Amino acid sequence: MISNGEETKREGIETEKDNKKRNPIWNLISEYCQPYIHYFGFSIFAMLFARGLWLFPPVVLGVSFDAIFLEDQPYQLPFIPVTWIPEQQIDQLWFSLGLFIISFIGGSVLYIIGSLSRDIAAYRVQHDLRVDAYATVQALDAGFFDSQKTGEIMSILNNDVNHIERFLTSTFGKINDTLFTILMVGIYMITLHWQLAIVGFITPIFIGLFNYWYSSYVEPKHQHRRQQVGNINTRIENNLGGMHLVKIYNQESHENKRIIKESEKYQAISWAVARARVFFGQATNLLMNIGYIILFLLGGYWVLYGPPLFFSGSLGAGTVLTFLVYNNRFSYPFKQMTIIIDSYQETKAAGGRVFGLFEKSRTVQRDSETMNLQKMDGQVEYNNVEFSYKNSDEISISHISFRANPGEMIGIVGPTGAGKSTLMKLLLRFYDVDNGEVSVDGRNIQDISLKSLRGGMSYVGQEPYLFDGTIRENIAYSRPDSSDTIIKEAAQRAGAHEFIDKSPNGYETKVGERGVKLSGGQRQRISIARAVLDDPDILILDEATSHVDNKTEAHIQNSLEELICDRTTFVVAHRLSTVRQADRIIVLDQGEVVGKGTHEELLEQGGLYANLWNIQVGNVDSLPDEFIQQVSQMK
Ligand code: ADP
Repeated sequence: MISNGEETKREGIETEKDNKKRNPIWNLISEYCQPYIHYFGFSIFAMLFARGLWLFPPVVLGVSFDAIFLEDQPYQLPFIPVTWIPEQQIDQLWFSLGLFIISFIGGSVLYIIGSLSRDIAAYRVQHDLRVDAYATVQALDAGFFDSQKTGEIMSILNNDVNHIERFLTSTFGKINDTLFTILMVGIYMITLHWQLAIVGFITPIFIGLFNYWYSSYVEPKHQHRRQQVGNINTRIENNLGGMHLVKIYNQESHENKRIIKESEKYQAISWAVARARVFFGQATNLLMNIGYIILFLLGGYWVLYGPPLFFSGSLGAGTVLTFLVYNNRFSYPFKQMTIIIDSYQETKAAGGRVFGLFEKSRTVQRDSETMNLQKMDGQVEYNNVEFSYKNSDEISISHISFRANPGEMIGIVGPTGAGKSTLMKLLLRFYDVDNGEVSVDGRNIQDISLKSLRGGMSYVGQEPYLFDGTIRENIAYSRPDSSDTIIKEAAQRAGAHEFIDKSPNGYETKVGERGVKLSGGQRQRISIARAVLDDPDILILDEATSHVDNKTEAHIQNSLEELICDRTTFVVAHRLSTVRQADRIIVLDQGEVVGKGTHEELLEQGGLYANLWNIQVGNVDSLPDEFIQQVSQMK
């Protein structure tokens, strides 16, 4: 359940749809880092001072060298008042030592504080982002899951969100280090000797331009790489889910090949990125080394023969020494820049995928625009409903109209693919109709809040889904606080109590992932018990007894009769005996209603229902030739 605050946050994101092209990193900062900006701000502040302290010793070294050992320059330090500096050379030596110690210890303490402050904020951003992304995925309508692969979504929720966290902890720190090192070294260099500083800045400018080119070169590669992570996940997820099938059909080597193919693609793109990074890193190194040589030549000449070319003034050997040390210090952040750019581009791609999730338009309206129903009478009406799946050209439901009065049992029958399940999914608003309307108690379901609409209904499908946990938890899924007596009663009414009681741990038996430790029929009965316990106003049984044997079905049938007596029930069934007692049966074929009435009326009318019935009771001789032909031509 998304909290109000989170809902508002997402609404905010949705209203910015026009702004889709916004840089995901900027989205990340403005939407998610903003609440923790004080932590990030504090971290930046601490890191700036840590850098300032760590970069001070080379200045002290250069000045001490010139003033104490060569004795050709006065002992003067940037940011240190002249009154603090001792007169005697030996005292100046101790003073320098004190400055070294303060710089090293102070820098470390500030670094610890800054890192912790940044990391705590990054983990909170990661948490918020993951929770919001999951809530968004959960709120998306069913159509989204038809087109988006589960592995891909998992990859976004896990890998991409984690990558963003790594960016905020590691890369953010590197960006700070780089910027502050450049800033502090720049300040120290200018204060020490502005003319030599200008020469020292030439190579970094070239490196900056080179970085810019590299960034645009690797950006598409990173997008491709993140996409490929999603593809691998999808493949693995699919295979693990269908592992039994893989083994039964001896397809291990085929599946291995498919994984190898996807993994090779990932390897190829990662290799291209790695090659670019290594070459770029060394090219940057080369430029830095050229800068080093220029400074050494120019500085050395200047110290020995006075200012060359258009330069003027004096230059101490200690200052040249400081500049050479700084040139190396400069090289480190510029080398880091390759990693930063890589990570920035990769995070941009990861962020794009996470924020892309937020931007997926939801076809189902938001609950705030709709009304809550406390209780439903259970009148359901389909009025000229038309629907086709977005990913398919075929019309799944065509001009369907019928009504279910409160308390009625409606049977829905028809061949496979006729549109029976789709009809029920429209009532649950997994999808919105294209034309016409579905109403409950005279209200268009699009005007009823999803929470109250679905709260009043229970659905038991053909493939019952059980969550990893105990039988008890699965039965009491919609009402976790239910007492043992209520849970047991629901299980008894669904014909499940007997086998649960025989299980070693009874209701506390673990069902395994998706209920693998249970048979299809047992899973089905648990999901019926879940619906019984939910006590809905409208009950939907979509082939709910298809997995159970005839004896169990007869048992469930008795309890179902009791269960459905006072509530509207839709029973989708292949086995026509299941719907024989229905107040009305709707016969569907290719998305259209081809018959309506009670069992007897439909038999009397002849047509599809009568034919299907005759097949099921083994009365094949009475089937018309054209129906037999039609069935034999079915795909
Ligand atoms: P039934 O329940 O009668 O067997 P369905 O309602 O499941 O039939 O399907 C009706 C039609 O809609 C079929 O042609 C089926 O292929 C199509 N269909 C069902 N689900 C989807 C989906 N998620 N995406 C695209 N087409 C679908």
